[in-house]
Amino acid sequence: MRTHKQPYIQSLSILIIDDSTSERVLLRTLLRKSGHAVTEAATGLHALALLSDKSKMFDLIFLDVRMPGINGYETAHRIRDIEKEQSAVWCPIIFLSGHTDPEDIANGIAAGGDDYLAKPVNAIIVNSKITAMQRIANMRQQLLVANQKLETLAHTDELTRLPNRRHFLDILDSELARAQRHNTPLSIAYMDLDHFKQINDTHGHEAGDTVLLSVANVLSKNLRSEDSIGRIGGEEFCICLPGADATRSLEPCERYRSLIENLKIRTSVQTLTVTASFGLTSILPGSGSDDTGHLLARADEALYQAKQHGRNRIEVRDVHVITSRSGAHI
Ligand code: GH3
Ligand code: MG
Ligand code: MG
Repeated sequence: MRTHKQPYIQSLSILIIDDSTSERVLLRTLLRKSGHAVTEAATGLHALALLSDKSKMFDLIFLDVRMPGINGYETAHRIRDIEKEQSAVWCPIIFLSGHTDPEDIANGIAAGGDDYLAKPVNAIIVNSKITAMQRIANMRQQLLVANQKLETLAHTDELTRLPNRRHFLDILDSELARAQRHNTPLSIAYMDLDHFKQINDTHGHEAGDTVLLSVANVLSKNLRSEDSIGRIGGEEFCICLPGADATRSLEPCERYRSLIENLKIRTSVQTLTVTASFGLTSILPGSGSDDTGHLLARADEALYQAKQHGRNRIEVRDVHVITSRSGAHI
């Protein structure tokens, strides 16, 4: 007797969509024998209801072509629409039909199917098709993971692992839109390390990097859950404080300033300390349209004041002051 080496098949969650009970029983028995979990739907609409439920995930779908109500082609079309709407992972669809004219197969693939099998099904062919689909699904998954990693890299500052400038500006844009939508205040603090060039000049660039990393770590570990931080430039960071105006944001900023001041940074050369200056500003409910560019510019002006007034301090430039003077900067 000829034996077919059964390839290793991992246990999958498979949906059978077929109006014929006997066909479903046949396929279900075969799939369960191979260790797969099977769910059944007797109509396209029942299947679509199952697939709309995000808690139910399937690895593979066997889909009959001729069914009362919506047929297999229409069902496949709608499944692909649901996947797009939900940004769901692609689920392979294998059509099952007694009709295997070239036209039928072409229609099945055009409708979003991935393969087309003739009924009655043959166990060896079904298992082989499952292996092939699983291989494609695994490759797709690996590609998704690789893309996610690339996306994270593109968003992350290499040294500190904080959101980089571009990503932080995106965060700020969405926080600003949220604040304007909900009529809530939003503050931002521009932060710049004091005399950082001296650290580099005296102790070397590597020690400077250690300082940047330590500051980033202590801030991200102690950040309030609603706040976010990004590295905007060399030794410049920005903190977004939603839900509070500049006055109420002074307290958390003072805590962040003090954390940096009290930080003992061990470098390969010696233990260092560093301080930072903060420029704080906010947008208030009803203060009209504002964008991240304006907010950052105001915070930068406040930061400049903090540097002028002796560093290691917080200066506030509140939106109130500006609006009360018809938009003129003071
Ligand atoms: P101030 O108090 O006025 O801010 O003075 P400062 O010395 O901090 O400011 P300045 O802008 O003169 O110098 C910033 C320095 O930061 C110069 C630059 O070489 C250094 N720097 C920028 N990025 C990095 C980095 O990734 N690593 C290290 N080690 N140094 C960096
Ligand atoms: Mg500096
Ligand atoms: Mg600077």
